Amino acid sequence: MQKPSVKMSEYFLPTLKEDPAEAAIISHRYMLRAGLIRQSVAGIYHWLPLGFKVLKKIEQIVREEQDNAGFHEILMPTIQPAEMWQQSGRYDGYGKEMLRIKDRNDRDLLYGPTNEEVITDIFRQSVTSYKELPLILYHIQWKFRDEIRPRFGVMRGREFLMKDAYSFDKDDASAEQTYYRIFASYLRIFARLGLKPIPMRAETGPIGGDKSHEFIVLAETGESTVYCHQDLLDYNPLDIKADDDKQQIFEDWTKLYAATEDMHEADKFNQTVPKDKQIEARGIEVGHIFYFGDKYSIPLKAEISLPDGTATHVKMGSYGVGVSRMVGALVEAFHDDKGIIWPQAVAPFDIALINLAAHDNNPDADKINALCEDLFNKSNEMGVELLYDDRDERVGRKFADHDLIGLPYQLIIGTKALKNNSAELKNRKTGVVEAIPLDNINSVFDRIIQEKQAL
Ligand code: ATP
Ligand code: MG
Repeated sequence: MQKPSVKMSEYFLPTLKEDPAEAAIISHRYMLRAGLIRQSVAGIYHWLPLGFKVLKKIEQIVREEQDNAGFHEILMPTIQPAEMWQQSGRYDGYGKEMLRIKDRNDRDLLYGPTNEEVITDIFRQSVTSYKELPLILYHIQWKFRDEIRPRFGVMRGREFLMKDAYSFDKDDASAEQTYYRIFASYLRIFARLGLKPIPMRAETGPIGGDKSHEFIVLAETGESTVYCHQDLLDYNPLDIKADDDKQQIFEDWTKLYAATEDMHEADKFNQTVPKDKQIEARGIEVGHIFYFGDKYSIPLKAEISLPDGTATHVKMGSYGVGVSRMVGALVEAFHDDKGIIWPQAVAPFDIALINLAAHDNNPDADKINALCEDLFNKSNEMGVELLYDDRDERVGRKFADHDLIGLPYQLIIGTKALKNNSAELKNRKTGVVEAIPLDNINSVFDRIIQEKQAL
């Protein structure tokens, strides 16, 4: 099994001192500078080890919440045949955003921008009775949309990672309950990532249908203008428990005004939200849920039998989370002028160990190196993810790099630590520095383990 901790001298973590000119917003700048991503071509990014770790942690939280809610994970290919899109009638309508491909036999394929058609095909091949419903399938897979203006790094990419779920129900009433289940699971996903999601009534757009909410995180650099009641920011989705009434949760969360620009009604906003509670702000769309009934099941002929023996088209919805966009959204939400401040749940490592002796001809170097080596081994034994800065670099560069990378803690060990018999532990978020007696340094790892268990 892979050990949790790594030494920077053996790692691939190319940080940049200067701000890259192409990055217009802070998350893009920090993601490039902290060595999380590199651009391949416009809107397409490579994920380097540090960024890939964050991406996988986000993916895992999304997966856990979907599994806990009783949804089933599958994996559909990125490449799809054009026929199903011709059947649904979306092939021409989707326009230039769709990357169309021909194989060697001249067959029309495409790189999937979304999966309603494909999942309907999977469903119609195997499910024939209402008895097997409700059913919710999801996958976490790369999508391609040839956006006119890819920008802001991974926030609006052309190739991006999405979690998309699809629901199948026998009738509208049952589908409504499914919508509430997904709604509650989405609130928990974003809250576990450390964000404050606000569900907002949204337009259904090209996917069509009649019920839709966007999950928005407020941020100055968000692409959408949104309007909502300030009290929504005080709600805590982590209070939501598995057997809570999901319809009640939906009603509680949607009774206060919250709408994206397209759905905004100024009169209603002014009538229902007191002036001092009105928020007009920019927001990032991190998730979007739709109910669209039989929009795809009719043209793609996905039918099920009902208890009375008649047949009907299955009722469907689709539900997306922008997994790769979330990395950018998290950096937008959590940073300062020195760099990123990762929430513990998705930090690429739990703690940095900064060895101050590695560069100088420090007379204490042997002792400091041995102490650090010991801590490195201990972290591996205890299962704490530690990033050991053993590089032959100047102290100033090390401090700047670690503030930029933004792990929750920095454990700093140099001559001063040896003299005082205590290391310095810096909390990246608060800036508070604590002295930790060297003979009690395990307590730092214990604390981290406890904090992570509480998440
Ligand atoms: P947008 O309005 O931002 O263009 P959309 O409404 O077209 O997004 P959906 O089809 O609802 O997107 O996709 C589900 C989720 O996937 C979105 O809520 C968003 O988080 C993410 N997403 C969509 N397009 C992109 C993109 N180009 N780059 C990164 N993430 C994206
Ligand atoms: Mg959307």
